[in-house]
Amino acid sequence: MVLTELGTKIIESLKKNQGAKPEHYIETTTQICKALEEANVSTDIIKIFKRNVLKKSIGSKKDTKINMQKIVVNELIEMLDPKTKPAFHPIRGRSNIIMFVGLQGAGKTTTIGKYANYYRKRGWTVGLVCADTFRAGAFDQLKQNAVKVHVPFYGSYEEKDPVKVASNGVSHFKSKAFEIIIVDTSGRHRQEKALFDEMANIRKVVKPHEIVFTLDATIGQAAFDQAKAFQQEVDIGSCVITKMDGAQGGGGALSAVAASGSPISFIGDGEKFDDFKKFSAEGFVSQLLG
Ligand code: GDP
Repeated sequence: MVLTELGTKIIESLKKNQGAKPEHYIETTTQICKALEEANVSTDIIKIFKRNVLKKSIGSKKDTKINMQKIVVNELIEMLDPKTKPAFHPIRGRSNIIMFVGLQGAGKTTTIGKYANYYRKRGWTVGLVCADTFRAGAFDQLKQNAVKVHVPFYGSYEEKDPVKVASNGVSHFKSKAFEIIIVDTSGRHRQEKALFDEMANIRKVVKPHEIVFTLDATIGQAAFDQAKAFQQEVDIGSCVITKMDGAQGGGGALSAVAASGSPISFIGDGEKFDDFKKFSAEGFVSQLLG
């Protein structure tokens, strides 16, 4: 089930069972849990949601007026909140180095274009470095994105050592006092040692202020293990969850990343460069429920 349908179903069940009796609260909760299940949220996460909503509705004192909608909204926020906010915020007047990591196909190159676009539109000077020497065509793809969002780029067709390209690219933009320097690293189809080693080597040399992990929402609940693995191996600063538009696994992925405790900085919800939003659990739930 896609997220817009989930929002509609939650609103419908809140409207349908508007009485103040325990059976109304149970009915609403059961229907919402079913919708969450259809949206690919994990059984464990749903169990916690259900327990908390029932405790706060039928478990509360009889003379208290229950606002079921408020309880549901608060518990949805609780479910989607990683409890840690992204610690990194770029600082004006210095070169902020941001390294992007993720598996191939997750939407990393597209997200770099969106991220560059986001900051350029807000008046920052942005430069892109392509340190993905693994995938043929990676440099051309990044170049195309850079041109589309009107930011300069750095890369090489000849140099095969990603560490050298990353280091040269960062020095290039630093010497020009660029404020946001984004380093694209290569992905692989799977999490593997070669990928983590390469990320660690680039990291050592470019000393990023922030490492952003791009994660594909269509993988659903598997996002939990992937976020944990990248957190452990590269100490990521924040996640961007891509393909939230219409993704069948969107609800599962978002709740799983939240449960993994990885801060979520942005979500990508479309193929266009403006399809990119700062994430907050409150904002997301309020948009979900219209
Ligand atoms: P990379 O291998 O991680 O660099 O992935 P790409 O940036 O090349 O993206 C892979 C595919 O996902 C491309 O077809 C993108 O257009 C698509 N994509 C990336 N982000 C989004 C998104 O938020 N929504 C949708 N629908 N597609 C996306």
